[in-house]
Amino acid sequence: MSPTNWDRFRLSRLGPDNRYVIHYAHRSREGFRSDPCAAGRPLDLVPLDGVHSAAYVDVVAAGLDTAFAFYRRHLPGLTDRLPRPLHVYLLNLNSGADGLTWGLPSGPEIWLRNRYEEAAGPLVASKIKATCAHELFHAHQAVCCPASLDGRRPWAWWGEATATCMEGQIDPSNTEFLAFLYARLDTPGVSTRNALRGYGDVLLCEFLLERVGLEGILETWTRTPHPRDPAEAIDAALARHGIPFGSTHGPDFFGSQFSLALYSPDDPNFGFRTHGALYASKPGRAFVSGVHEMGAGSLEFSSREWLLGLSADYNLVVVDKGLASVAMHIECDGDIEGAGGSPPVKGVVVQVDGAGVRVADPTEIALAEAPTGISPARVDAHPIYRGSAIIPIAPRTEELLVVIVNPTYGDRERACYKYRVTVV
Ligand SMILES: [Zn+2]
Repeated sequence: MSPTNWDRFRLSRLGPDNRYVIHYAHRSREGFRSDPCAAGRPLDLVPLDGVHSAAYVDVVAAGLDTAFAFYRRHLPGLTDRLPRPLHVYLLNLNSGADGLTWGLPSGPEIWLRNRYEEAAGPLVASKIKATCAHELFHAHQAVCCPASLDGRRPWAWWGEATATCMEGQIDPSNTEFLAFLYARLDTPGVSTRNALRGYGDVLLCEFLLERVGLEGILETWTRTPHPRDPAEAIDAALARHGIPFGSTHGPDFFGSQFSLALYSPDDPNFGFRTHGALYASKPGRAFVSGVHEMGAGSLEFSSREWLLGLSADYNLVVVDKGLASVAMHIECDGDIEGAGGSPPVKGVVVQVDGAGVRVADPTEIALAEAPTGISPARVDAHPIYRGSAIIPIAPRTEELLVVIVNPTYGDRERACYKYRVTVV
């Protein structure tokens, strides 16, 4: 393995004002093989293709021009701190990645795919532009937080969530980023802090964007001193709006708002204001951990595995019609590995009366004869403390959505829970 000989890359394009330079492997037959999430810059270049196309470089340059104009307008201080020119290499990224940004001692450097075709499907112009927007935001992140490019560090997931969000901000007609949603919707119980799922956490970023605006999102990166953890920066952005990011006591952004919005994304009362219908292509009912039908008696639920910080478990309890009342007893053990103090889980119970619960997929009609949506008045957040609690449930309740959330963001605050629903 020998170090990359960058001289072999022919200079293809110098951007306006020397902002960037695109290096194109005109005659090179090189590509590279590496885990894009691994720390460090891969140097295991392998021979692969000799593809080259001047039109392709034009598309990349147009994508960079658009993205640069956006960041210069919104983040002028960071844009000015980028290397000038910023080096952009078009390479055979045969790992399947569309782009990568490296934080080098000399400053960030961007690698993009050098061809349209890829095993995972053709790369279209809109995708190239989205990738330029995404990677250029990573380059800006690297200026204020070099560690954000390391997948093992606390800022990595927020780096991916916000870089993905910027794709849609720079070009609102571009919905490429929606392809990442299932990374989030398919695994609600996986912690938000999981860097590999960061792309899907564009959902959380969008939900936050609707409340704090683009400026609030960008401030999470530009705040000084730079917080150790992005959750602290998000908390600060939300502070002006009077709600904490995560809290086991009282309403919080993650547990009381975002976790419920995931279940009913297109509900105007507590879903997403924009793109809600698109998110709703994943029916809320489909991602609950379990649907439990029960008559009179008791049913007990417990966590199947540790509930890590910033994650939620969803269980839907469907009660036989005609039964008079439901009581819910909750016992909870939490803070098993935390530093002590308040328990790291809270329960959010959504009560649905006989009118039915709104479901996005019309084939899921079991209890949706008269869809009405879940109004905020019917959503109660009950903090659950260690020990047991009885949560009052309205008479004639037919469905209970029980969301157990760990809204904490400490490194070690994983939790387990147990609860029991009794129907009499
Ligand atoms: Zn990325």
